[in-house]
Amino acid sequence: MHDSIVHLSDDLVQVRLPLPFALKIVNCYLVRDDDKWCIFDTGLHTPQAENVWRAAFKQLDIRRGNISRIVLTHSHPDHYGMAGYLQRHFTDSRADKPPPVLVSEQEFRAAQTVFQHGVDLKPVMQQFLGQCGLPAQASESILGNLADIRMATQPHPTRVEFLQPGQTLHVGQFRFEIIHTPGHADGHLVFYDPAHRLILSGDHVLMFITPNISQWPLSEANPLGRYLHSLRQLQQLEVDLALPGHKKLITNWRGRIVELVAHHEERLSHMKNAINGGATAFDVCTRVFDTDALSSHEMRFALTETLAHLEYLVKKEALQKSDREVWRYSLP
Ligand SMILES: [Zn+2]
Repeated sequence: MHDSIVHLSDDLVQVRLPLPFALKIVNCYLVRDDDKWCIFDTGLHTPQAENVWRAAFKQLDIRRGNISRIVLTHSHPDHYGMAGYLQRHFTDSRADKPPPVLVSEQEFRAAQTVFQHGVDLKPVMQQFLGQCGLPAQASESILGNLADIRMATQPHPTRVEFLQPGQTLHVGQFRFEIIHTPGHADGHLVFYDPAHRLILSGDHVLMFITPNISQWPLSEANPLGRYLHSLRQLQQLEVDLALPGHKKLITNWRGRIVELVAHHEERLSHMKNAINGGATAFDVCTRVFDTDALSSHEMRFALTETLAHLEYLVKKEALQKSDREVWRYSLP
């Protein structure tokens, strides 16, 4: 339990919450906010994760009324999942107003659609996977079970305020510039304090793994193009320490961004080479990834990530796409 709570400074604490899937851990942060604390990202709601938060609050003597705000980088379930729980947990009975959850409007709407309103996405996803060229019998197994994930995002927050890119978020001694960084999630935000050369980077820049950049039926077009564009903007920032949503803290900010850009450029060229005389997204996916070794959950991300790369190449006019029932890509 002890190594789940990492004191980075008097004002910054990393809370490492368990996840019941391959990623294993999501990093959340407590940032001192004058006489209170501000939470950045919350974890997936499981009993194990509740225990880690409880231990962190005990260690820091954080009680009801001591949380000022709950800030989210984006609304993927491992970041959004405990926002409502933590908000409820810290409602001060005297003040009777829970701490607000601060998030981009786009991300909050996505969370409502997918987790809260229980929209049945299966028919949309099945049609979409078919257009990617996935055989119908495989589509059932890779769709996964959204019901479990929905359970792990309850309760939903009741008091929500929307963050605007370009605004400054004052948290204790920090002045965070709010920057919109689409790609991994359409409304993803990062929080940058130039005076402290510090950034809370969510899932936009990670060590060891490349953030998943996927095209989904409900996501905006060309996520990879928007991701690479926002990476190049972030590369200009002066950063000594980045606090990411997964894996290790980042101390070579620019170097890591250069690696991420190079990774995608290499993958783009592999995918283009895998087109041969013409191919579906599924064909390219099986040629570029070792798909036999992937779980069905990983297969879903491999396929949607392949699609993001192919769509990027179409936008760049390096590939042609025929818009029939199944999308086929070919060299121009
Ligand atoms: Zn994410």
